[in-house]
This record gives sequence, structure tokens and C-alpha cells, in this order.
Amino acid sequence: MADALTDLKARLNDVTSLNQINALLDWDLQTQMPEGAAESRARHMSIMSRLIHEMFTADETGKLLDEAAVEAKGADYDDDDASTLRVARRDYDRLKKLPTDLVEEITRASALAHNVWAKARADNDFKSYIPALEHMISLKIKAAECYGYTDHIYDALLDEYEPGLKTADVDKMFEDLRKDLVPLVKAIGERVDAVDDSVLHQDFDVDKQRAFAEGVIKDFGYDFNRGRQDRAVHPFCTNFSINDVRITTRFDPRWLNPALFGTLHESGHGLYELNVDQSLEGTILAGGTSLGIHESQSRLWENIVGRSHAFWTHYFPVLQGYFPQQLGSVDLETFYRAINKVHPSFIRVEADEATYNLHIMMRFELEAALVAGKVKVNELADAWNEKSKAYLGIVPPTDTLGVLQDVHWSMGLLGYFPTYSIGTILSAQLYEKAIAADPSIPVEIGQGKFSTLLGWLRENIHQHGRKFEPKELIQRATGEPLQARSYMNYLKTKFGAIYGI
Ligand code: ZN
Repeated sequence: MADALTDLKARLNDVTSLNQINALLDWDLQTQMPEGAAESRARHMSIMSRLIHEMFTADETGKLLDEAAVEAKGADYDDDDASTLRVARRDYDRLKKLPTDLVEEITRASALAHNVWAKARADNDFKSYIPALEHMISLKIKAAECYGYTDHIYDALLDEYEPGLKTADVDKMFEDLRKDLVPLVKAIGERVDAVDDSVLHQDFDVDKQRAFAEGVIKDFGYDFNRGRQDRAVHPFCTNFSINDVRITTRFDPRWLNPALFGTLHESGHGLYELNVDQSLEGTILAGGTSLGIHESQSRLWENIVGRSHAFWTHYFPVLQGYFPQQLGSVDLETFYRAINKVHPSFIRVEADEATYNLHIMMRFELEAALVAGKVKVNELADAWNEKSKAYLGIVPPTDTLGVLQDVHWSMGLLGYFPTYSIGTILSAQLYEKAIAADPSIPVEIGQGKFSTLLGWLRENIHQHGRKFEPKELIQRATGEPLQARSYMNYLKTKFGAIYGI
């Protein structure tokens, strides 16, 4: 007798592989592709998207889902088959609502807009980017209307990255954060001269920067046999298999932070993908379950580990070995304080831990207003500068340092930004739980050892892939829902000590 579950899984595996092939085209677009190839690449990727969408949302998939559900009845909740059915049903019901030509057009527009955005950013020319962005916003509004929503059109877009998350949840999260965060940033602002970070702004040979950072992430457990690091305009992590997980970075020859902390950050995303259970390879369950959970991993390795005192007791002498002239006479305390300097800055990915969420709040409000039609694209640069003034107290002198800095909107990633704050908050909640389970973790970090921490994350987060939705996973791993308390405690303890407040 034909087995619907087997047929369904074969079909889902094909869809997964085709998605991975499309991701490879996108990796190439962002790292290697000559500019002249933009049109042809947009064509390739949009055709792939159409084929994938047609195959996945075909009536046959729906029929197999129905039949397989009968066959798998009674299976445990976390059983692979039961989980496959849950995840596939959710994806199917959602994507079935989108017409194929819209999926194709979003992919095409995204591939084309990437280069338009990159050029506008390089030339500080927001005007040249307006038509491409207007087109993309109109497509995303169409998609949101297809998905449907009850309260806010933005809910429909949030759900794509963080299943179940609503605009009202994000409002509440930022309200909770704002209460504690704004006074903390203000108190630090009054003591801004307590930390001097000039040691980070010197000539740092780019090859040495790379060698040091890659050495660290090897120690974290990032496996270069199943991964690699390339350069990109906007750093990212992508994967085409559990055994092919790639990261990208960018270098500033006069500033240590972007490549160093960028690499640690992306390696955190990479470790998540690399440590999904191998039994899920090639299936719809392989890969991170949401962007918020993903970001909890990157922020944990970048900040909670990578900006900790314990970490640098081990790695500062190593870094001094790479840069004896620049850092040889700098002491550990000066360096530790420098990398943790809090000050409002223009670029989100280079922001300190305390002001980071303020960058996210302004993007969330702007993109929610864009899709609700309350802000027009041609008003966006001014709206950006107003928000920047209100939240960070500074106005970027150029659009390159302002509204043009992020790649997301060009790619149609609207509803994505709030997941950065979810991840940031969650990183502290997870770490608190990990060290409660094994108090030797901070001691090991001080020795350049990370296997206990990585093991805890693998056990509680990574191995499950997409089996559990974010809310379930957080509850299982920490015994409580997402909360901002751990994160605020972490910030207050750390910056209280550094700034004497
Ligand atoms: Zn990230």
C-alpha cells in the first residue's frame, strides 16, 4: 500500500533542497557575483522561487498532508514524523495563501534591489533607492493582505519570522524594556567619559583581524570543514545543509570591532545550524526554528561570551600577539572597558549592548508605519532622522549612516527587525539557565573552552531544528516564557560595574 507519509517526506525533502539551492544563489549574489549579472541572477532566483512555491503549495501536498496525518495519529509530540507534519502543515497553510506570481515577483524585486541599495548606500544617494523600495513595500503589503490579519497588517509579516508573534506583543516588549533601559542609558550617558575606546581605533591589518577572529570561532566549535567565511556588504549567515553553513563579515582597517564582533556574531548563527541533529539533514525540520531564536544564539556568543571579562582574560594576550604595536602596552582592563563602551551611535550592527534595542525600536516603528501607509518611502529618510534624534539623541550626517545602512528592506524583510530584540533578551535568559545548570561555564570561558556551554545549547536548542515553535522551545529550555528581567539584570550588573553606577 502506498504510504502517504513517505511520499510527503520525499516531496518536502525536494522542496527543502530546492530552497537550499536558491540560498546558494543568494550567497553568491551577496559575496561573489559581478554587478553586471544582477538581471540574470534575479531571473534565476525568481524562477526557482516559482518552482518551489508551485511544488510546495500543490493540491497534492495538501492531500498527502491529510492522509499522512491519519497514518501518524498517536505519535508522540516530539516524534520526527509528528513534528514534520506540524511544521509542514503550518508552512503549507501559510504559503498556500500567496499567489505564485507574487512570490516570483518578490524574489525578483529583492535580487534587483540588492544592488540598487548597495550602490545607493555607497553613494549616499537615498533618492536613487526610492523606486525600488516603493515597489518592494507595495509587494509586501500585497503579501500581508493575502496572509490576512485581524489587528494590524504588520502582524501578517511578523508571523513569517516569528510564528505567533503580534505587533501588540512587540509593543509590550519594548514598553517593558524602555522602562529600565532608557534610565540606564541616561545614567551611563552622564558618565560617558568614564570609558575611553581609542585603543580600538588604530591601524589593524585586515588579514590579522581575520586570523584572530577565525581562531576564536574555531575554539567556539565552528567547524571550517563544514563552513567558511567570506566578505559581504552586510554580514550574514546562510546554509545549504547541516554540513555547509557559511558566514560572512566585513573589515574596517582602522577599527577592530566590526569584523571581530561581527564574526563572533555570525558564528553564533552558524553554530546553531551546524548542531541541528544530523538525523534531520535534508528535511523540512533542519534549520533554526525562528529568527528570534537564531538571534539569541548570535548575541550570546558575540556579547555574553565575546564581550565578557572572563573571555578576554584568555584572549587578550592572544590578540596582543597579533597586534603588539597597537595593543602591547594596553592593559586588559582598558581593553575590556573599551569594547564595552556605551554611547549612542549611528550604525546598528556596531551598537553597544545598552543602546542596541533603541535601534531596533525605531526600525520596528518605521516599518510598521510603512506597511500601514502612515509613512511614505519618500518621507522615510526624514522620519528616520527624527526617530534617531528621539531615541538616540543623534542625527546621522548622511543617509549612508542612517536610513541606508541596513540591507533588510531592500530584500523585503519587513517584520524581521523585532526578532533582533527578542534574541537579545533571550540570550541572557538562556545563559542564566545554562550557568545554573553548570556553574563551571564562566570558568571554562576564562580558559578559552566552550564545550560545556555549546553542549548545553546543543541539547536544549540546536539539536531540535524546527521541531518546536519559539514559544515552546523557550519554555522547554528555560522553564518560563520569554522575559526581559534576565537581560536587564545582566546589563545593570555589567555596566553598573564598568560605569560605577
Ligand atoms: Zn544576527
